[in-house]
Amino acid sequence: MAIHLNDTHPVLAIPEFMRILLDECGYGWDHAWDLAIRTFAYTNHTVMQEALECWAEDLFKERLPRIYEIVCEINRRFCEDVYNLTGGNQDMVNRMSIVYNGVVKMANLAVATSHSVNGVSQLHSEILKETVFRDFYHIMPYKFKNVTNGIAHRRWLNQSNPKLADFITGHIGDGFITDASQLSRLLPLTDDKAALEELGRIKLANKESFARYIQKHNGITVNPNSIFDVQVKRLHEYKRQLLNAMNILVTYQKLKANPNMDMVPHTWIFGAKAAPGYYFAKEVIQFIHTIGNMINNDPTVGDRMKVVFLENYRATVAEKLMPAAEVSQQISLAGTEASGTGNMKLMINGALTLGTLDGANVEICDAVGRENMFLFGMTTPDVESLKRFGYRPRNYYEHNPDLHAAIDSMMYGSFSNMHIKNIADSLLNRDPYMVLADFADYAAAQQQLAQVYRDPMAWNRKSLINIAGAGVFAADRSIYDYATTIWGAGPVSK
Ligand SMILES: *Cc1c(COP(=O)(O)O)cnc(C)c1O
Repeated sequence: MAIHLNDTHPVLAIPEFMRILLDECGYGWDHAWDLAIRTFAYTNHTVMQEALECWAEDLFKERLPRIYEIVCEINRRFCEDVYNLTGGNQDMVNRMSIVYNGVVKMANLAVATSHSVNGVSQLHSEILKETVFRDFYHIMPYKFKNVTNGIAHRRWLNQSNPKLADFITGHIGDGFITDASQLSRLLPLTDDKAALEELGRIKLANKESFARYIQKHNGITVNPNSIFDVQVKRLHEYKRQLLNAMNILVTYQKLKANPNMDMVPHTWIFGAKAAPGYYFAKEVIQFIHTIGNMINNDPTVGDRMKVVFLENYRATVAEKLMPAAEVSQQISLAGTEASGTGNMKLMINGALTLGTLDGANVEICDAVGRENMFLFGMTTPDVESLKRFGYRPRNYYEHNPDLHAAIDSMMYGSFSNMHIKNIADSLLNRDPYMVLADFADYAAAQQQLAQVYRDPMAWNRKSLINIAGAGVFAADRSIYDYATTIWGAGPVSK
């Protein structure tokens, strides 16, 4: 039997499992503990500090008195083991404690008890060993594994994009439905002009259909021949919707300064919900709406720029959007996004990734080659060294005239307000996710992307290579990895 802890949320299953064996089944501690260790495995889903659940010890003790006793006994024995294994390193014991300083640490309980601990992309699993669970990795390295996330490809390709699924079936048969690795059989089509043209027609039809959705829900008329550039994901500072928005503002200001500027028509599509108490995230949503209203209603812009913010973004909206997407923005600060799965849904629908080397973007790069995506920005080690050096966002404002003008307009321009000023202030004085440090490289990658877009065959070829490389991101592969490397469950022979 295997019990998998999907994040820290169900970690109380561990002391409850012990309680049942001890109190209801009459097991001794050692026997129950041996079964617990061999039963539980834990997946970590994020390095964000706020996600590693901590509960107040007094609350815990009051509400769950027996579970509390068991957690304390697990902790007492675990601390004793760590003390012995580290040659009496009390600092390490304190850091790894399950109960310490009046708090119960659920992640520490999960790692101490599970026989397997995994992250959700290669990069994330390495970062866990170096940072979040560094001490644990030091004394129990054999627990640490990786299982890269995957997506339900029968939903995100076959169900949501029937035109593309039919195209694929027409060329390689329907074996990819149950074996996504067969998508690689599309690769010979990269030199097939008719196939690439057909792929372009399918994308255009899907864009026209999503343009009707936008017309109906947002009342905005978008140009189906413009680049459909998509950033859809929860609103969080680390995901850097602000980086995207700042580039849109800079692009708009350049177009205003030079109304005859030669630019590829561009439609930016956002979809994002913010957590109810995340005030800054809501200010970012308001900022995107503000610049969107300004740009969408400016007659000098025409249909060369449009900004769409999808209301109530959710999986049923994503299913309509993914088939129409051409650019997949995956622009988190390197080292912050555990995996991402939106990146995989967009890739399998033929979108090209504009991204940092973060989360599963690294493995997308391995699958398609860096010439078939648009990589930019700092790597995880770059971010670490800039932090050690001392990050001063104002330097970038002072030395980049485009950024300077955009931030000034946020502070003093006609569209400015209290919330937008607050965002400008945050960027200049804190910028915790280094938007300004990556801005110039991001803007250059956007320029480069628009150049490639001018050549539809070159673009469609990269798109096809992305679809062909997406097989490894099928959830079937992830589940196979969990079954064989963690649960000890092999496939049933037919
Ligand atoms: C896939 C999906 C996500 C995850 O997106 P990321 O870009 O990986 O953060 C979030 N919300 C919805 C509705 C999704 O379908």
